[in-house]
Amino acid sequence: MTTQTLTQLEQHELFLRRHIGPDAAEQQAMLNEIGAESLDDLTQQTVPEAIRLQRELSIGDSHSESEGLAYIRDIAAKNQVFKSYIGTGYYGTEVPNVILRNVLENPGWYTAYTPYQPEIAQGRLEAILNFQQVSMDLTGLDLASASLLDEATAAAEAMALAKRVSKAKKANIFFVADDVFPQTLDVVKTRAECFGFEVVVGPANEAVNYELFGALFQYTNRQGQVTDFTELFAALKDKKAVVAVAADIMSLVMLKSPGSMGADVVFGSAQRFGVPMGYGGPHAAFFVARDAHKRSMPGRLIGVSKDTRGNQALRMAMQTREQHIRREKANSNICTAQVLLANMASFYAVFHGPQGLKLIAERIHRFADLFAAGLQAKGIELVNDTWFDTVSFKGVDVAAIQARALAAQINLRYDDDGVVGVSFDETTTREDLTALFDAVLGCDHGQEVAALDAQVVAASRQSIPAELVRKDAILTHPTFNRYQSETEMMRYIKRLENKDLALNHSMISLGSCTMKLNAAVEMIPVSWPQFANMHPFCPLEQAAGYTQLIEELSTDLVDITGYDAVCIQPNSGAQGEYAGLLAIKKYHESRGEAHRNICLIPQSAHGTNPASAQLAGMKVVVTACDKEGNVDLDDLKAKAAEVADQLSCIMITYPSTHGVYEETVSEICDIVHQHGGQVYLDGANMNAQVGLTSPGFIGADVSHLNLHKTFAIPHGGGGPGMGPIGVKSHLAPFVAGHTLVKPGRESDNNGAVSAAPYGSASILPITWMYIKLLGTKGVTQATQVALLNANYIMKKLSNHYPVLYTGRNDRVAHECIIDLRPIKESSGVTEMDIAKRLNDYGFHAPTMSFPVAGTLMIEPTESESKVELDRFIEAMIAIRGEITQVEAGDWPSDNNPLHNAPHTMADIMDPAFEERPYSRETAVFPTTAVKENKFWPTVNRIDDVFGDRNLMCSCVPISDYE
Ligand SMILES: *Cc1c(COP(=O)(O)O)cnc(C)c1O
Repeated sequence: MTTQTLTQLEQHELFLRRHIGPDAAEQQAMLNEIGAESLDDLTQQTVPEAIRLQRELSIGDSHSESEGLAYIRDIAAKNQVFKSYIGTGYYGTEVPNVILRNVLENPGWYTAYTPYQPEIAQGRLEAILNFQQVSMDLTGLDLASASLLDEATAAAEAMALAKRVSKAKKANIFFVADDVFPQTLDVVKTRAECFGFEVVVGPANEAVNYELFGALFQYTNRQGQVTDFTELFAALKDKKAVVAVAADIMSLVMLKSPGSMGADVVFGSAQRFGVPMGYGGPHAAFFVARDAHKRSMPGRLIGVSKDTRGNQALRMAMQTREQHIRREKANSNICTAQVLLANMASFYAVFHGPQGLKLIAERIHRFADLFAAGLQAKGIELVNDTWFDTVSFKGVDVAAIQARALAAQINLRYDDDGVVGVSFDETTTREDLTALFDAVLGCDHGQEVAALDAQVVAASRQSIPAELVRKDAILTHPTFNRYQSETEMMRYIKRLENKDLALNHSMISLGSCTMKLNAAVEMIPVSWPQFANMHPFCPLEQAAGYTQLIEELSTDLVDITGYDAVCIQPNSGAQGEYAGLLAIKKYHESRGEAHRNICLIPQSAHGTNPASAQLAGMKVVVTACDKEGNVDLDDLKAKAAEVADQLSCIMITYPSTHGVYEETVSEICDIVHQHGGQVYLDGANMNAQVGLTSPGFIGADVSHLNLHKTFAIPHGGGGPGMGPIGVKSHLAPFVAGHTLVKPGRESDNNGAVSAAPYGSASILPITWMYIKLLGTKGVTQATQVALLNANYIMKKLSNHYPVLYTGRNDRVAHECIIDLRPIKESSGVTEMDIAKRLNDYGFHAPTMSFPVAGTLMIEPTESESKVELDRFIEAMIAIRGEITQVEAGDWPSDNNPLHNAPHTMADIMDPAFEERPYSRETAVFPTTAVKENKFWPTVNRIDDVFGDRNLMCSCVPISDYE
């Protein structure tokens, strides 16, 4: 019998004990190692006194997992899931259960990072390559990106691409057809304003009347009409305009491709390929262009290259980290994209195959035909005379229809002009159609599905004009034709998963990326229908659960950031930067200071900072860093004074990208404020702040939060993410709004930055769970243990590798940078060799060469236990030993385990291995820990240069594998 009280026994159940890796004894051992008495003592030593919060957060108590689930189940129950025919870019879909369970709910897929280390990411690279192939086949164009954030931002990217590549250099007009989705127009307008483009909106065929650099059309339009654009596009191309088309992915299965009509860019949402509506996201957008535009593509491309054995190997092509290299000249600021969702959509195509997709599309289309026939039999006037899935009609008693529909839990699209629209989807059944007739026609309508079907088949009605019916084959690649049974599909997914290193294998200490635990309990609500199956434009009353969740989350984020308000719209960190800079811009404009357009950015900033500043129409002025890695105050003062009345803002990161708490941060804020500028604080490093300090307290005006870093949303192999922004009250009136959903807080004239009002709403429950379960105590302790883990690694490695920067008392913040340049100098071993050698030891490399070339930035996070940290440390020390052998000349500099890393099974099976100066065991089983849990890279080191010179971004012919 224990003598512990009930309260003490209950403590044992708290989630924080599971989230935080090291237990109390391990924490104490590590504290001893680094010379601190307690977590609080370490905090005192590390975080500058002036910025240390003197209060506790008000999140509340810590909770157990079952308490958390019970509470969020109550919230979920407040969402009413109606049958949605709203369409407008979001459609019901059946997520194949084999994909739901083996991809969306599988940490092997959702906890991986962006494939910066392609040798241990060939699985998801193949899945994304499949996504690119699907995109190309369906659009009829030849170069696809690996996913954009949503359809509306893809439209804005298409506009920016048009400007870059159009030969109509003097033109400043971007034409948008007046029948595109309203949210698409909204996002395009916001972006165009920053670039200084003129957006002209009008009937599609009037585009030719303007001097324009590009034009945007929607196929099929928002009311459902299917139009042949061939002649219009030819006329526009004569004018050197770039033609962009927003298209519906499911319709493209049946319709002639926009590429074959002459479009230059085709994009759209891949949501209805098996990704739930999720109240707006996350979903992947596809984006496909002509090969000629490859250097101008936004976002990432996956390309085929070869490894050192000459085998096919996949990797991110060209634009890998393009913002880091091209900064404000980058094509876009897209960093985190929508990889997990792109993979789900590509698996959906793989699972159904071309035949299956065709049957799905034809069934959807048939329901539209039947519905139209039923309405026409009753003399109702249709707005469109061609359609794929959407039928719009008018001249009806809208109020009566709406009342009957709501009573039957049905949502339709109601336009301002008395037009009602119905979009069918994969989930529609015969019973649904009957219920729809009841709602639209009232009872006693006498429309019978079977009879209508016989009629429609007999009449062979051409609701898709004959010339617009697709005639070419799609998805002929073997990958889309061999996994139609569930067993085959399950094994294909598993085969790819096995090639990838994710958090379910070992720690991923990517500095700045914060790869912490994505707990199962946080993920569970995401799949619930009350969160998954809500349409983002449904009446607000139906979304009471989401409203409550978003309000509670906002309250906690306000508390955590020290700001006055948050805006939950941006769907990535970089989008948050853009949204925050827009708020600053509008604020200056509101004060008659529209001329303030210079953004100061320290040299060490993340590449998305300058890329976002450029998107927001600002001019970037770079400020220096001193040799300790801190912002050089003298240079900052000089530059701020120099540009003074033009100064819009500064973008800083805190703790700095160098992983230390700069003592001067408040002074930096003061200097910028004195010159009338605003302070944008990049919140990517919030994992070193939560509960200890905050951007608002430090003195900044606006920040984004990467909910997919600090707040436990998984990285998904390169997305999704969420980048809400926190703002001080004076900026609150200037955050993003939305044309269709107005909860009443935002000012009416603020444009949108994302397609959906709350971005990727369906992953917000993850962050809500993270914060609520940990509570005030847990989130604060998480930060403290993140500091402890980083300082422990720093201490243990510092005898073997030089640590580049430290702050007060020789402490680092939540990450530490080790300098490999001296090693390269003395041994020829590069940071790349060390990164790849870590793969042989079963680890993902830390962040390489950011923010300083030739370094590794290690961020262990609070979730890693001491055992795992020690394994990593052991690997790093063993690697240092290997480097010493190279330095000593024991091994030739071009033939050693580092230079040849990573090692594959093919290597050790190769008889020629005998000629190497090291053993097979050294190659693949360098430590006992590795023997017990071996991860096998599936390809050898990949040749980047070859891949870029011979750019190929489509599926590899199967013959090439043989
Ligand atoms: C990750 C990161 C970003 C960009 O966030 P995304 O969500 O990838 O767009 C910006 N700044 C810093 C310092 C980061 O680490």
